[in-house]
Amino acid sequence: MNQIPNSLEARDVAFQLHSYTDARKHEEMGPLVIEKGEGIYVEDNSGKRYIEAMAGLWSVAVGFGEKRLVEAAARQMEKLPYYHTFAHRTHGPSVELAEKLVNMAPVPMSKAYFTNSGSEANDTAIKLIWYRSNAMGKPDKKKIISRVRGYHGVTIASASLTGLVNNHRSFDLPIANILHTSSPHYRTMKKDGETEVDFAKRCATELEDLILAEGPDTIAAFFGEPVIGAGGVVLPPEGYWEQIQPILKKYDILFVADEVICGFGRTGNMFGTETYNLQPDIMTLSKQLSSSYLPISALLVNEKVYGPVADESNKIGTFGHGYTASGHPVAAAVALENLKIIEERDLVGHVRDISPTFLKRLNSLQEHPLVIEARGIGLIGAVELAHESVKDTPGVLGGKVNASYLEKGLISRALGDTMAFCPPLIMSETQVNDMFDIAEAGINEVA
Ligand code: PLP
Repeated sequence: MNQIPNSLEARDVAFQLHSYTDARKHEEMGPLVIEKGEGIYVEDNSGKRYIEAMAGLWSVAVGFGEKRLVEAAARQMEKLPYYHTFAHRTHGPSVELAEKLVNMAPVPMSKAYFTNSGSEANDTAIKLIWYRSNAMGKPDKKKIISRVRGYHGVTIASASLTGLVNNHRSFDLPIANILHTSSPHYRTMKKDGETEVDFAKRCATELEDLILAEGPDTIAAFFGEPVIGAGGVVLPPEGYWEQIQPILKKYDILFVADEVICGFGRTGNMFGTETYNLQPDIMTLSKQLSSSYLPISALLVNEKVYGPVADESNKIGTFGHGYTASGHPVAAAVALENLKIIEERDLVGHVRDISPTFLKRLNSLQEHPLVIEARGIGLIGAVELAHESVKDTPGVLGGKVNASYLEKGLISRALGDTMAFCPPLIMSETQVNDMFDIAEAGINEVA
């Protein structure tokens, strides 16, 4: 690390606590300082360029340095840099974005509600669900089911939904009323001789058993990502959603599709909900909504959710929830321009066009002796690494491959020993090949 006093590196170590980082290790290693970005590339403060194979954090759909987003932000900053949406107030960008999202939704949705992060969107979804149960005179219908390996955020409630050990351990989570059903990862969870379809059936049976054991009248909602992202890029096994959804319907359980990663083209359709033929009551959206140029997230809720919530707010005299920056006009203006770009450039069609090359190169890594599974859809994928020599120390291989990628100019994300690939949607076919040339070389180097 750069030890020069007063360097950015030294000041970072001196003053900043980092997310998802071993703080003591950071004191020794220091940070990677990213200074600028253009298209699918970012550059560090030594001038070294990297392919950003994660689009930041599954986020920058239109790539870095998109001037139209900068200009949209500047225009809105000049006109109205801030206003809120509390107590009957509104402004143009929030109205336009709400209308746009409700109209874009692939299933009937009534209203959009704005928040600032994926975590807040899911947290708000939980609050809406509880509020609704109370409004309907069902105060016991409060339990929420999510999945092992699902990722839904880090607030106290959304981290509780998240089904990953490190989001619970030492935080005293999960909170009460949050339950986890089995991980849908076929390779690690299947029984001997079980087909993918049979495994999906067993996941559905396990969900139904959990509902019955807890009492169906106590279960309010089920949260799931169409494709699990941060939990290791886990695709639903064949027949999974077809079998899960009828169970939710049978017991009158709301379905929340967490589209924070899948939303806006990632899986080759505008929403993961379309890719897997889902019928959610609530969709949570963020990340590619604004390409993360500014923080903004949203929930779309259908009439089944909105109706009782609206009645309850009327009974109480207010819907006692809201963030200072809910529907922030500059963030909303950037999101609108971002969605315009996604539509004008047909980035969803582009994902479909380049996905075969992306998946071919990804799947070819499966031949490598260090790779136990490659999996992906659209423009999201992962390779899971394993080797006898390090099988008792998870994360070692991922760390080594990650370091090799960085050295070779590629930023992936090691989720334990799973290397994720989720590049900007604007990536060209040539760039897909460039990305996997490095991905392959990095694995070869570590082997
Ligand atoms: N939901 C999903 C599916 C996510 O992938 C994430 C973040 O990666 C979140 C929720 C939380 O979003 P945020 O980090 O903006 O709070």
